[in-house]
Amino acid sequence: MAVQEKRILYRHIDIPDWNASIECYEADGGYQVLKEAVKRDRQELCDEVLKSGIKGRGGAGFPMGMKWKFLDRKSGKPIYLVCNADESEPGTCVDREIIYKDPHQLIEGIMCAAFAINAKQAFIYIRGEYINGYRILIEAVKEARAKGYVGENVCGSGYSCEINITRGAGCYICGEETGLISSLAGKRAYPRIKPPYFPAVMGLYDCPTVVNNVKSLCYVPYIFKIGGEAVSKIGVPNDPGTYVWGVSGQVQKPGRYEIESGACTLGEMLYDVCGGPFAGRTFKAIIPGGSSMKILKWGEKFDIKQPDGSVKELKVEDIPLSAPSLMSCGTALGSAGIIVMDNTVDMVEAMANLNAFYAHESCGQCTPCREGSLWISKITKRICSGGGRLEDPELLMSLADNICGHTICAHGEGMAWPVQSNVAKFKDEYMAKISRQLAGEGEARLDKNS
Ligand code: NAD
Ligand code: SF4
Repeated sequence: MAVQEKRILYRHIDIPDWNASIECYEADGGYQVLKEAVKRDRQELCDEVLKSGIKGRGGAGFPMGMKWKFLDRKSGKPIYLVCNADESEPGTCVDREIIYKDPHQLIEGIMCAAFAINAKQAFIYIRGEYINGYRILIEAVKEARAKGYVGENVCGSGYSCEINITRGAGCYICGEETGLISSLAGKRAYPRIKPPYFPAVMGLYDCPTVVNNVKSLCYVPYIFKIGGEAVSKIGVPNDPGTYVWGVSGQVQKPGRYEIESGACTLGEMLYDVCGGPFAGRTFKAIIPGGSSMKILKWGEKFDIKQPDGSVKELKVEDIPLSAPSLMSCGTALGSAGIIVMDNTVDMVEAMANLNAFYAHESCGQCTPCREGSLWISKITKRICSGGGRLEDPELLMSLADNICGHTICAHGEGMAWPVQSNVAKFKDEYMAKISRQLAGEGEARLDKNS
């Protein structure tokens, strides 16, 4: 059966003649959910989100309703809502489409969420490089304010909430929620250790704060409209809803495809939806959730729990695309950006490219991340420039192992996981490359001495 898209968040994207104006959005029923929501009981709205079971779409997959539930409502301090639009994960460019083409969907989502958690101030922290997105959002908020959807007395309800838009400071770590909160407050984007003080208790200006991704917030009006229970029935039971998969790399039809969780396998996604590999090539590996996840080798097998509770051995290409299935493969769904690599890719070169990114983006607070990422990058670069040593794969593994679990934020693991899986699964490529270099060096020495 051909794979069908189910467009919820992307329902307006690619509609001919669709534009980012408020008139266009209203003509399709836009802001009707907000008008109804402000008449409803706040607890009831929060319960709908909890019932939906929707997990955060930014990458960590923490249930959105739980995050709202953990909000410290008794502190007496103001509550803030922050939309994380600092989309910077390699291979991830899904939020951008919503911001550029359907900004009012996001604004309605923010206002629905803000009302439900009783936030009087909301923020959109947008990636610094999305300059046009920033301008579009400024214009859209202005339009929404003029129509009474943002600002004083929202939809005549007596509830007031402003939206402030801030441009990111141009580095990856600004998207880590505690780094983002710090940057939003005008400080350096240094992440901090979260437990026990998650942003829900101590966030922006030390006040209770909900930080949700663009897609998570766009889900809110949909949940309010059809109800949490109905949303919970879309996709697989323990991972409801749709995901907008961003497929990039060596595949015929890269793009963004919104599909119910678990509704297709990785093979169906890459062959049926994305047209398969380029002529004469074969798939070699993928990273399923942006770049910060463990790499999957094409053809490797995993034990996957079936809906009836039994366990079945499946090849990577037969794995259903959902958070629980990908977790069973030792990786994660992350930001749902699938990076595809075919048989022409040199896995050591690919890793060196990624390592340079992570080393550059380390904020430098923790020694294992700061020093480890730099050493890992230097070693892979050295191998690529002909100076490989036989002990390098083991050294890379040891460096990556020593980063995991020893850092303040997830950047450490985000760098280490791809390295660990790349070296473990493609060690033969490392050894072949290094052996060729050493043999060449030996021949050069013999030539010189003869
Ligand atoms: P995390 O697991 O620490 O937190 C997830 C969310 O749940 C956070 O908002 C956190 O505050 C909340 N949370 C968790 N436990 C809680 C509790 N007990 N009480 C209250 N709140 C709680 O993950 P993270 O560090 O926020 O995110 C890491 C992920 O971000 C990575 O997996 C990566 O995929 C993703 N990422 C995405 C992008 C992007 O561009 N979309 C960029 C970089 C990284
Ligand atoms: Fe900074 Fe890396 Fe430590 Fe995160 S893990 S706080 S990016 S040094």
